[in-house]
Amino acid sequence: MEERSVDSTPARAPVNRILRSSIVDGPGNRAAVFLQGCNFDCVYCHNPETITLCSSCGTCVPACPAGALSVGESGGILWNRDACTLCDSCLKTCPHNSSPRVRLLSPKEVMAEIEPSIPFIRGITVSGGECTLYPDFLRELGELARERSLSFFLDSNGSYDFAADRGLMEITDSVMLDVKADPENGAEYRRVTGNDGKGILDKAEYLAKTEKLYELRTVVSPGLFDPVAVVEKACRRIVGTGSRYKLIRYRPVGVRQEAAAALAEPDDLLMEKLAGICAGHGIEAVIV
Ligand code: SF4
Ligand code: SF4
Repeated sequence: MEERSVDSTPARAPVNRILRSSIVDGPGNRAAVFLQGCNFDCVYCHNPETITLCSSCGTCVPACPAGALSVGESGGILWNRDACTLCDSCLKTCPHNSSPRVRLLSPKEVMAEIEPSIPFIRGITVSGGECTLYPDFLRELGELARERSLSFFLDSNGSYDFAADRGLMEITDSVMLDVKADPENGAEYRRVTGNDGKGILDKAEYLAKTEKLYELRTVVSPGLFDPVAVVEKACRRIVGTGSRYKLIRYRPVGVRQEAAAALAEPDDLLMEKLAGICAGHGIEAVIV
């Protein structure tokens, strides 16, 4: 049984979950590592349980039908992995966008869990939450991935100053970067994400020009912001670099109830129009 803690040594990070095999987190079959904690709070977040670190309030403990949760001597939450049925009742009960199933792991411990799948995967993608909140952990995990000839990808909300972290860039093969609203409209970006999004297109351009941008990604929900303007502005910054653009239809799955009631799903016409903007700039568009 593991007692969750919010303390983190530089090379450890809170891990929400590890998928040994995923075909939706970058090119090919990959292991995906989801870190806990995010500096954004997007209205359409599809994994709201990854946003904050557990505060050990204890609300979820009696909600666990399997008795897999308890309060430890130091007040931290104990999660019994063997007893857990992954029913998600704890996530639905948590009032703080957190999870009691987070483990504080070192890069070596993460690699040990991925080990059985290494013969079958092309690489590792670290996602979140926002993985760049833990750059020391990322650098060390990236080194371990390289030692095993695995590519190393990051999935980021774009808040990190990649250009200032040469060590991380040297070890990172590519980044998947979100453009969540118009970054030139700080008020809009803040309404959608809780962050003003300043400099995100500069970061996209930097990554694209250094051949470290795998794709830009925008979640499209009509009425939330003008996706035509966003995709147009973003495309202009990555023209001719070989990066692609993933256009993601907003879907209400996993989204917090109040947001799901307020957000609309896009129709095919809008998605095709956005793909056409990408094509006009010679950029491959992927609609999902
Ligand atoms: S997912 Fe949460 S509530 Fe469900 S069994 Fe596991 S710890 Fe308990
Ligand atoms: S996961 Fe949420 S409900 Fe459970 S102890 Fe942590 S903050 Fe409280």
